[in-house]
Amino acid sequence: MKIKVGFGFDVHQLQEGRKLILGGVDIPHDKGALGHSDADVVIHALCDALLGAAGLKDIGFYFPDTDAAFKNIDSTILLSRVIALIEERNYSVGNADISLVLEKPKIKPHIDLMKDILAPILKISSEDISIKATTNEKLGYVGREEGVAAYAVVLIQKND
Ligand code: MG
Repeated sequence: MKIKVGFGFDVHQLQEGRKLILGGVDIPHDKGALGHSDADVVIHALCDALLGAAGLKDIGFYFPDTDAAFKNIDSTILLSRVIALIEERNYSVGNADISLVLEKPKIKPHIDLMKDILAPILKISSEDISIKATTNEKLGYVGREEGVAAYAVVLIQKND
């Protein structure tokens, strides 16, 4: 069985008056992520990891931020489309490992719901998804609460 790994990274600015959507969950907070779509860094990093594993291009190629069709779009829709792209090439997802980097708020209470949202889209068990969160120890743009970042690694396997 052929297996491939992929890596993805994403960052968005944090601003007042925006929703904070992470892993498909609307998280109560006084700041949210700024972006053309819903600015969900967890899903965007995951999409780029999946595309990278399949040897495809990046999220900006398939869903450009100049296209009005993607304005404020729910990123779970983008993730479903990315899954369709890798399935067209006869791949399925093995597992996903995600690290979320932000200063506030605490993410732990929301992780199980994120996994429950992502698992059916990725067509894997929630046990095959890991979502970890860390602060940036008050350093840099994440530390100043100016932004939120996410890193994702995925494994995909060729169905033969
Ligand atoms: Mg993004």
